[in-house]
Amino acid sequence: MAQLLRPWSVQGPAGLRFVDGRGIWLTAADGRRYIDMCSQLMAVNLGHGDRRVTDAVGRQMAQVSYVNPAYETESRAEVTERLAEILPPGIDRILLTTGGAEAVENAIKLARIVTGRPKIITRYRSYHGATAAAITASGDPRRHPTAAFETPGIVRIEDPYCYRCPWHHHPETCELECLAHVERIITLEGPETIAGIMLEGESGTSGCIKYPLGYWKRIESIARKYGILLIADEVMSGFGRCGDWFAVTRHGVTPDIIVMAKGLTSGYVPMGGIAVRGSLIFPRFEQDVLPLGLTYAAHPLGCAAATACITAYQADGLIERAAALEAVVLAQMDSLKRKFDCIGDYRTTGLLGVLELVSDPKTKNPIVPWNAYGSEAEPGIWLNRRLVEAGLLPIVRWNYLFIAPPLIITEPELAEITGRIQTVFTEFQDRYLTRISRI
Ligand code: PLP
Repeated sequence: MAQLLRPWSVQGPAGLRFVDGRGIWLTAADGRRYIDMCSQLMAVNLGHGDRRVTDAVGRQMAQVSYVNPAYETESRAEVTERLAEILPPGIDRILLTTGGAEAVENAIKLARIVTGRPKIITRYRSYHGATAAAITASGDPRRHPTAAFETPGIVRIEDPYCYRCPWHHHPETCELECLAHVERIITLEGPETIAGIMLEGESGTSGCIKYPLGYWKRIESIARKYGILLIADEVMSGFGRCGDWFAVTRHGVTPDIIVMAKGLTSGYVPMGGIAVRGSLIFPRFEQDVLPLGLTYAAHPLGCAAATACITAYQADGLIERAAALEAVVLAQMDSLKRKFDCIGDYRTTGLLGVLELVSDPKTKNPIVPWNAYGSEAEPGIWLNRRLVEAGLLPIVRWNYLFIAPPLIITEPELAEITGRIQTVFTEFQDRYLTRISRI
């Protein structure tokens, strides 16, 4: 029997089958309801089943479903105007793709074309997508299976991971060596060979590793000093997820290229894109052909969905809401940490957060080792299964449990998630913290 391959999964029997989505809830075929505590893949920022979006897409479908991207449509004109309202000034040329990885590919390609330089600097603990250049750009181990055929020209840097500082500093002794390290790598590589520095607006599934104060700003000045373009990958962190339209602007930085997807359409229709500083395009591409393009670029259904989503975020004040809920999530994470020694650290920016789980809070030994599989990964697999049984749809990667619900979530609903986590953690800690500590 034919079967859909399940991405990033061991292949086997199909998982839960969902038949309905409303707000933060998804209903499975057997009638059980689950809280979507990670907005699926941190995409459904608006929550499920918002009629403003589904109706807009339906209307567009009935009107005209597909038009060659070289032509204008009403939906294309409209989404361009709406994006212009929320993009930083000067970032006003937009290419719309069908997802995040395609957008990353185009950002890398454009940076190389306009600078004439080959290399892109990225972080080890980062994820930028599964296509060829995007997966190479991802420092995350998801690139390991294809490491033998990486695309050339990616240079990676260490992460400013304060909880596990690569330079063994504590906040009190921190001298931001992570930034001296970036400049050292640039010097060693040759600044004239580096087209761009690409960082996630805020770190996502590699651990929601928060940038130290001033980090992004210093990266911006390093980039400017060497004529390197700054690319903010806002695929996960954008569209309110981190309490602003784009997380990088919370750091006072305007990059040259913003990469987006996910929250752009809240996942209702596949769409991504890049928004680019106009000076990268003009005057050169008034004469030359712009060598970027896709059959489904600026697909009318995606444009309709994106316009409806932006309108809904604005009408419901969801961007501000995510910023305000950051404190609520932090307070709940803190209350969990006080109860459970297995929580080594917790972090969130807006509604993009993580509980980092350890087998011993003193040694910070991760309860599941980095990139573990087989029996070493068992605590994470157990935790995931129990959280699902408790009616949550979590994302657990190694020792990270992510908390990134739709931006429409209420405080009581957040408390409900925390309550369910607490119930499961009581058993989790008994089972794994003590056992692993004894080894
Ligand atoms: N960039 C970031 C920061 C992401 O988190 C992701 C996906 O999770 C991507 C790019 C790739 O997006 P897509 O899966 O839509 O190709």
